[in-house]
Amino acid sequence: MMTLRIPTPLTFTLWLLLILACGDDRPVGVAAAPAHAANPACLLDQICEAPAITAAFDVSVGRLRNGETLATALARLGLSWGQVDEVTRALVGSFDFTKSRPGDQLRLTLREGRLDALEYRASMTREWLLTREGEGAALQGGQRAIAIEKEIAQVDATIESSLYESLRTAGEDPSLAIDVADVFAWDIDFYRDLRRGDRLRLIVEKERVQGQLLRYGDILAVRYVGGLVGDKTYVRYALSTGGEGYFDAQGQSAKKSFLKSPLKYTFITSNYGGRQHPVLGYHKAHQGIDLRAAIGTPVWSVADGTVTRAIKGDKAAGTYLFVRHANGMETTYLHLSRIADGIQVGSRVKQKQIIAYSGNTGRSTGPHLHYGMKRGSSYVNPLSQNFPRAEPLPKAELARFRGQMAALVRQLSFEDDGKGGAVAAAEEEEEP
Ligand SMILES: [Zn+2]
Repeated sequence: MMTLRIPTPLTFTLWLLLILACGDDRPVGVAAAPAHAANPACLLDQICEAPAITAAFDVSVGRLRNGETLATALARLGLSWGQVDEVTRALVGSFDFTKSRPGDQLRLTLREGRLDALEYRASMTREWLLTREGEGAALQGGQRAIAIEKEIAQVDATIESSLYESLRTAGEDPSLAIDVADVFAWDIDFYRDLRRGDRLRLIVEKERVQGQLLRYGDILAVRYVGGLVGDKTYVRYALSTGGEGYFDAQGQSAKKSFLKSPLKYTFITSNYGGRQHPVLGYHKAHQGIDLRAAIGTPVWSVADGTVTRAIKGDKAAGTYLFVRHANGMETTYLHLSRIADGIQVGSRVKQKQIIAYSGNTGRSTGPHLHYGMKRGSSYVNPLSQNFPRAEPLPKAELARFRGQMAALVRQLSFEDDGKGGAVAAAEEEEEP
């Protein structure tokens, strides 16, 4: 005679938990009690075949949701208010409850309903762990010490498309592209000046946690050999008088009075050399150059100065800014999507400060930044100006500088890999 067995509530619960285990906020592992595992009439093979564990324990993982505190998240994950209170008390002193954020991760280990461990992870370097040593013991613990391993790594990239893509192809986090563009901001416009086959080598500090990249530290030295821009090498150097900067082998500063481009390098656009970012030729009547840029690309002031105009919604120029600099120079930024917070007429701005975001406002036929430069009362072509470098290293520093940079510069030589550093042969792309 056949017996049809309806799943017991326990079976059903376990089945439900397993089904839900794929979700982000669900228990990830549930060990069945032995009596259940031995049940021959179980309808669910995967549970029946699970190895029997003498004491049932389970692990729940979840993330804080919007508007949740640690306490409400713990309650949602199944702890009683008494258990929540115990956790809170155990964390007082080591955990700042005001700093928990949506997305923070939680992992709870329960044994027969008793909370045995709690892990809280806010980031790769901020973790807390509470454990209970046994029956009757209190939850104990606090913030975990996370070891950060530092290394100095060499990175090589050949430009195939954008700087961003090329570094990604080289196995690096593309955030490194922004750091590289920052060092060369006075010499290279990474939206326009790249050519296929250009080469980049850099030496950079990397910080890792358990083998995973946490962040890049300083770029210690970097070399770019480009078909258009030539061969540029800069080494980071800390002056004995304080401060630091990038200098070439002769002790000349990487800095100039004006940046090469008013567009900060970002990931917003993928581009290749001049192809997708042409400059529509400079002519005087136009009073500037047009730099194609995705709407929202950060615009930085190309030099220290004072904002002289900040207008929204002009019929022709759209939203725009004028900035006056030293020696009677002035720069203009037109068709902006918006002016950065806090920027108004009279604001003092620094070189590389983000003052606006590019757009397509006013009389504009597509997303671009109109960038103009005035010397006195007349407009000049910003691309054909030669701006002076910042102060070179003082003579008193040169001996120490040369001693420090010799090894780095040797490492940046391309001779070692048989390609002879002759990247200059890279063919010149046609100008648009
Ligand atoms: Zn224009």
